[in-house]
Amino acid sequence: MTTWLGSLGDRWLTFMHSIRFRLTLWFVLILALVLGVFSTFIYVTQTRNLRFDAVARLQAKFVQVQGYLGGAEWEHFEIAGNDVSEASVPLQGGDLLILVDTGGSVLGRWGAAISDPKAVVGALVTTASQQPDASVHESTVAIVGKDKQATSSDYLFIMSPMVHDGRLLGYLVIGSQSDLLSQQRRLGLSLGLGSLAMLAIAFLGGLWLSDRAMRPVTAIARAAQTISESDLGRRLDIGGRDELADLARTFDAMIARLQAAFDRQRRFVADASHELRTPLTIINLEVARALSGQRPVSEYRRAMEVVDAESGRMTRLVNDLMTLARMDSGQAILKFEAVDFSDVALEAFERMTPLAQQRQIALEIGELPELKVSGDRQYLIQMISNLIENGIKYCDAGASVRVELLKKENQAMMRVADTGPGIPAEHLSTLFDRFYRVDTARSHNDQPGSPSGSGLGLSIVSWIVHAHRGTIRVESEVGKGTNFEVALPLT
Ligand code: ADP
Repeated sequence: MTTWLGSLGDRWLTFMHSIRFRLTLWFVLILALVLGVFSTFIYVTQTRNLRFDAVARLQAKFVQVQGYLGGAEWEHFEIAGNDVSEASVPLQGGDLLILVDTGGSVLGRWGAAISDPKAVVGALVTTASQQPDASVHESTVAIVGKDKQATSSDYLFIMSPMVHDGRLLGYLVIGSQSDLLSQQRRLGLSLGLGSLAMLAIAFLGGLWLSDRAMRPVTAIARAAQTISESDLGRRLDIGGRDELADLARTFDAMIARLQAAFDRQRRFVADASHELRTPLTIINLEVARALSGQRPVSEYRRAMEVVDAESGRMTRLVNDLMTLARMDSGQAILKFEAVDFSDVALEAFERMTPLAQQRQIALEIGELPELKVSGDRQYLIQMISNLIENGIKYCDAGASVRVELLKKENQAMMRVADTGPGIPAEHLSTLFDRFYRVDTARSHNDQPGSPSGSGLGLSIVSWIVHAHRGTIRVESEVGKGTNFEVALPLT
């Protein structure tokens, strides 16, 4: 029971917070405002018209009565009181006539008998004193019938001062049964009930409409819930041209990007483990062979050299992986400063000289004009070193690698050119991809002391160049050599 109530409460809360409900509520509130203004306008104008008509009718009657009484002697009338016979006063059924003196005392009355004429007269005198132009008053009064029974009835009263020879003698009050108040009440009731009914219909209609409008959102949410990390191939595939179809397409595009990112990530992890497995296998084999029996010292030495080369290779690989991971996660924060590009190239050149000597490659330096670029010195050194190292690694002994710098328009262009084996044209477009190697066998050179690669060097180079808002280009001809050109904007 409690859980049932709890789930009902939850559903109610969810409904209250739903866009459907809020939309409907706003819609109803705005409609209520419009209806309120409209009804008030109708009520005020209609009431005014009704009152105007009723007052006009009463005034006509009043003029008639005044005309009749105009012939009477006011002085005499005042003293004589009700010497005017009821039948002779032109009153209709339910009408009443009251004469009051200036103090508000009733001098005479004809027609329907109201139980408390003084109160009516008091109200009229008060109105007249507050607003001299308005001497009309409407109220519900008790009428005493012939059987002495009082029945309440709505009356409209009009009052006029009686002046004789410039002297105020009193007031003439005439009252006529009026349905003004009941008409007002009926009008108010109709407008109120009508508005309420319209609001109720609008609320239900609004709920239905917003429910229909929100249906695709629910469908999107359900479909999105079924898409998991391992199921990124699924799409919402919601057709149509409306905003929600647009949203679904955006969502699908986002999932496609996520899928590509996940795929890249998976490939990266698989490639990384594969790359680490090769040196580990070699180390295991070498160690197992060395331990399998008594061997000459030279063989132990050779085994240790292989282990050293492979652990060096793993260290480089792990370093490259860490660099890429930092770059991907945005942790590789570049410290931009004004850097002399020639200085950086020279430092990379010096760093690579021992390797070039070891591999019997002629590492040459060309023109190095002073060209200032904005960049991170350490990353720029790493970028040039990678390019020079590749030249040294992939060229055979006797070849040359040349580094030079030149100014091209408003760019500093650094060229690393070698006279090595070159790269076949079909590999050039994917050369900067992670773990991409042209010739795996050639790249994995497990000769002790010789450099080897895992296909990460150029992707790091490309990342650094682009982070410096630069461009990188490669030209290569098989058998002749390779030429890398990095252009960075000058400061
Ligand atoms: P690695 O770490 O294996 O050197 P890179 O990303 O630096 O990976 O290079 C990718 C591939 O491009 C290498 O496997 C190599 O085959 C080729 N390559 C790069 N530079 C040269 C070059 N100067 N001459 C010939 N081939 C090169």
